[in-house]
Amino acid sequence: MILQQPFLNLPTMNQQGLLVKMKVSQDEYSAIHYQLRLLDGTLKESTLIAINDYLNKEIQIQFNGNIQCVNCAKKVKKTFMNGYCYTCFQSAPETSPCVLRPELCRGHLNEGRNLEWELNNHVQPHVVYLAASDVVKVGVTRKNQIPTRWIDQGANEVIVFAETPNRYLAGVIEVALKDLFTDKTNWRKMLSNQIDDNIDLEEIKYRTEELLPSDLQDFLSEDDNIYHFNYPSLYFPEKIKSISLDKMPNIHKKLIAIKGQYLIFEDESVLNIRNHTGYDITFSAI
Ligand SMILES: [Zn+2]
Ligand SMILES: [Zn+2]
Repeated sequence: MILQQPFLNLPTMNQQGLLVKMKVSQDEYSAIHYQLRLLDGTLKESTLIAINDYLNKEIQIQFNGNIQCVNCAKKVKKTFMNGYCYTCFQSAPETSPCVLRPELCRGHLNEGRNLEWELNNHVQPHVVYLAASDVVKVGVTRKNQIPTRWIDQGANEVIVFAETPNRYLAGVIEVALKDLFTDKTNWRKMLSNQIDDNIDLEEIKYRTEELLPSDLQDFLSEDDNIYHFNYPSLYFPEKIKSISLDKMPNIHKKLIAIKGQYLIFEDESVLNIRNHTGYDITFSAI
């Protein structure tokens, strides 16, 4: 890490590859560290760029016109569900309906597009969590995806609500809570870092536990820890303007913050990295 940084900060540094989800990690002070990840055309190798280091610097992201499926490497004109060609979108386990809607999962019944994948990914301990920002949101994630999933969503504070042996049961609990909480992230509010400081997640968890159907109460989590996330930023803009590499193939702007899977620039524009999964880009710092 220490050896890499001087090299990465060289103004002539150019890195080319297919954009995929940024890698995230958290240090002991709750600070989030992002790495921009670029895959080579065969999908076998990847380059990591410590993007936190470019805060307050001009960066350039140039779309080279090629898009590849990140599952089979085929060249495509457009992608489905973040980075998949149409064939993979219809057949890959990563794009199964139960990925977006856990209550549809049938992995625990030994069914699914790819049983081995289901057993490894969905018939595993899952959690239902409550995340606070301007409102309280409910969500589901595989336990070993903690805290990555929460950071990818740009959560500010999270409490674990329930823990289940598989994705299906977590989905059933999430559905039971959907009338009480939203399951959508308002990305504009998330990116302008609007937070309601009056939200007390522990109290909300206790109140919500009583409303859960009795057959699901066995899964309530005793972990009352509040997880905090501090995203790298100089400040957060008040207004947010989404940009895309399709309409703006050469982005050259000063980076002021990173939150969720978004890069946030000085002119209040934001780039959703996940929406550009599979896009062949060149990254440089000026
Ligand atoms: Zn494909
Ligand atoms: Zn599943």
